[in-house]
Amino acid sequence: MNQSEIYLDHAATTPPSSAAIDAATRAMHEIWGNPSSVHAIGLAANRIREEARAAIFSSLGVRFATEGQLIFTASGTEADNLAVFGTARAKRFSFTPKLITTDSEHPAILQPALQLEKEGWEVVRLSTKGGIINEAELDAALDTRTVLVSIMAANNELGSVYDLSSLFTLVKRKSPKTLTHTDAVQAYGKIPLHPEKMGIDLMTLSAHKIYGLKGAGALYIARDVTKHRQLSPIIFGGGQEFGMRSGTEAIPCIAAFGAAVSEQMKVGINTMNERVRILRAHLIEQLDTRIRVNQPRGAYLPSILSLTLPSVRSEVMLRYLSGMGIYVSAGSACSSHHRTASPTLLAFGLTPADADCTIRVSFSAMQTEEEIDRLNRALTEGLNSLAKIREKRNKPYDG
Ligand code: PLP
Repeated sequence: MNQSEIYLDHAATTPPSSAAIDAATRAMHEIWGNPSSVHAIGLAANRIREEARAAIFSSLGVRFATEGQLIFTASGTEADNLAVFGTARAKRFSFTPKLITTDSEHPAILQPALQLEKEGWEVVRLSTKGGIINEAELDAALDTRTVLVSIMAANNELGSVYDLSSLFTLVKRKSPKTLTHTDAVQAYGKIPLHPEKMGIDLMTLSAHKIYGLKGAGALYIARDVTKHRQLSPIIFGGGQEFGMRSGTEAIPCIAAFGAAVSEQMKVGINTMNERVRILRAHLIEQLDTRIRVNQPRGAYLPSILSLTLPSVRSEVMLRYLSGMGIYVSAGSACSSHHRTASPTLLAFGLTPADADCTIRVSFSAMQTEEEIDRLNRALTEGLNSLAKIREKRNKPYDG
């Protein structure tokens, strides 16, 4: 990217920080041993991995972690799959097992849920209309057949933040044997996450959303879950990662993950959010009045802003903005290749037509007001010139 380009798609991925790149480079140049080897270079690689693990535990407020409480994976998607299928395979059920999740999870949960459904599970998808989960709906769905409740901490398309402490307290009170999982890929580093205080048994993280590299994710596992072997591996082999995820660890990616986490802890969640909130307010203040903000009714991440354009398809605006060196996305990066409307936006309450005209802007705290001004100007210019093309053709502009 050059200086004149503006990246506003941090929910899709973040640029690796200098600290992350330095850590990965060092791991590649100097400490490239296999962490399972017992010679010096293997042990050095092992140390790097353990330092990264310790940094993540510290960021989660876990002070006395026991073996196997954090499993490095290759991505957030893999950690989500481990949480769902690992729980499903840990036991044999003499009844129809049930998974409770939401109707706007990332495909990394939606698809495993569909798969379990094909295998005979009952899957309940709680409504997230308006960005809110109704506790009574969760209460009604919970029963002794509920093996897992998986609710994301923050939504990737709208930024909705759910009150996990309250939801998971309800789960534990009503059905103590049910495991709780949260996909915290978007929330990690943006809201405080203390799994031990929030009743979280399993939690998914991903490095490339917090200025680390693609190629590293992690699954946090509560002590009781490891102790009672309530999770099975889904990848078998050499027994790495406490037997929960075989395969030689990607040490450069893990080293970068640790460095990114340490850096984030130094800056602090509040400082970052304060800055992002200012940027969000600045954008909304000067936003073209024809554009609608899809703000969740409850809590939300200030870094994610969902905008519905007046009858201009998101894909068309995306290309227009990209031509001007401004990068945003339509829904989530993963769903933007599909022509169907984003299920998350529909679940939020948008019509299919509005969902098709919705873009996502996602900031970093490092962004400037000038960049936001340029986006706002480009959006207005885009709406005007795309409307002109539409007039000329005298039919809806379909790109
Ligand atoms: N979960 C959420 C909420 C996400 O936003 C993403 C990525 O966009 C993932 C899971 C998948 O993470 P990864 O890209 O590391 O596989």
